[in-house]
Amino acid sequence: MGRTKKVGTAGRFGARYGVTLRQRVAKIESNLKVLHKCPSCQTKAVRRVSTGIWNCRKCGYTFTGGAYSPATDAQKILRSFRERSASRRTK
Ligand SMILES: [Zn+2]
Repeated sequence: MGRTKKVGTAGRFGARYGVTLRQRVAKIESNLKVLHKCPSCQTKAVRRVSTGIWNCRKCGYTFTGGAYSPATDAQKILRSFRERSASRRTK
């Protein structure tokens, strides 16, 4: 047991819970391990401190984000919407 080729770190669950679910876990867990881009200094040094709390190891910037990734899809959509409405106002 441990990690497998098929589902990586989610291999610790053995044959339980089904492939789809384990693949989903593996995807989330791989996201936790990599360093993310800092919204403050743009360096790839952001790590998850706790659920929804992210900290940049370079500039010390701490911010809230998604539970398993610093920016959720909903936040991305919201940001693009804000930018769009902001540029419309200047025209
Ligand atoms: Zn930073």
